Amino acid sequence: MQKYDVAIVGGGASGLACALALKRKNKNISVVVIDSCERLGKKLAATGNGQGNVSNSRLSPQNYHGGGAALADKIIARNYKLPFALFNCIFTEDSEGRIYPSGRQASALADSLLRELNSFGAHFVNPARVTSVKRGFVLTLSDGLVFEAKKVVLACGGKAQKQFGTDGSSYNLAQSLGHKLTPLSPSLVQLKTDTTHTKTLKGIRADCAVTAYEGKIPLGTARGDVIFTDYGVSGNAIFKISSLVADRKNITLSLEFLPGISREEILADIEKKLALGYPVSELLSGTLHNQIGRAIIKRSGQNIQAIVNTLKNFTLPVTGTLGFDYAQVTHGGIDCSDIGEDMQSKLVNGLYLIGEYVDVDGDCGGYNLLWAFASGVRAAQSIAEGL
Ligand SMILES: Cc1cc2nc3c(=O)[nH]c(=O)nc-3n(C[C@H](O)[C@H](O)[C@H](O)COP(=O)(O)OP(=O)(O)OC[C@H]3O[C@@H](n4cnc5c(N)ncnc54)[C@H](O)[C@@H]3O)c2cc1C
Repeated sequence: MQKYDVAIVGGGASGLACALALKRKNKNISVVVIDSCERLGKKLAATGNGQGNVSNSRLSPQNYHGGGAALADKIIARNYKLPFALFNCIFTEDSEGRIYPSGRQASALADSLLRELNSFGAHFVNPARVTSVKRGFVLTLSDGLVFEAKKVVLACGGKAQKQFGTDGSSYNLAQSLGHKLTPLSPSLVQLKTDTTHTKTLKGIRADCAVTAYEGKIPLGTARGDVIFTDYGVSGNAIFKISSLVADRKNITLSLEFLPGISREEILADIEKKLALGYPVSELLSGTLHNQIGRAIIKRSGQNIQAIVNTLKNFTLPVTGTLGFDYAQVTHGGIDCSDIGEDMQSKLVNGLYLIGEYVDVDGDCGGYNLLWAFASGVRAAQSIAEGL
């Protein structure tokens, strides 16, 4: 049986950040990272369309959701620059506050963590799946290997995109030690909608302000691209709004086309075209993509005021999401009411739970990686002090 000071289950963003922060604090602490993937940091290397959006300078408490949102706010401490010190990279910011490594390669982030961890002599066991963690900390792997550790960090991620080793089957490790799991739903995900009025729009993209309503109650608005598909809608505005929609029913989206242009301007443009003898079906030609314009007119009838109303409030009832296989994150997770401000379990001394594994999910734009890194670093501080 191999013995370590710390065993980290999951070599993703949070687990690797935790391991590195531990080794930087005290290189004599023996650390093993166990991961079920062939490649450590596999998901991290795929983030941000392969560019690695690690944080966001527009950070606010409203960017986090789930029962642990307040805990996330305390732990991140509004420090959006936290990843800067973790990586041996230069970072740059885009016009939406999103922070990327200057080389725009997410794989360089995983490489940076692994290179430094290797220089400290951290141990890695992968591909290997931890199937049980017992009090007193005995960990059993699927191939029968057994490890003993003084402290255990569960950094197993959520249920989103199982090809990254995250199929949701590892929640039972925390549950077997007495922790509760909150209801799970996919977030940052494409939405299925009624397609009656969008069948002809497949593949077309438009800049929209999208507001989600639960019944008549507005939940929030997101601005960005909407891409029409055969199942509903995708695009960054939809990803952003999906975190508000996650586990709710009776949701309708209202798409506002031409968000920066007033109703009066649009009306004046339509009246000019009418005076020039444009057929009704072409009244939005040049103003919007022709097919979107025609879909709006078809839905509104001949009335000009109704056309402008539909253009500013194109409603789409939501019928579901594309599910965990397409989601970027999991809404829900291990209940944070049993986790302290050092990410340590309140039920089992020496057990830490970090990253997407717990009931915290962030908006699209770098907030989820920031949470993964911040919670990993916080756990490392507490572990290093306690050993
Ligand atoms: C395609 C995609 C793009 C994304 N882009 C961004 C982005 O640009 N910015 C952003 O902020 N967020 C992004 N996210 C979300 C972000 O990647 C995750 O929230 C973050 O990686 C969570 O880190 P984690 O360490 O908690 O979990 P993960 O990174 O998911 O790592 C968990 C690890 O645990 C391992 N594991 C699980 N169970 C076991 C077990 N029993 N034994 C051994 N190993 C186990 C898994 O193999 C996995 O490697 C993206 C997600 C996806 C899917």
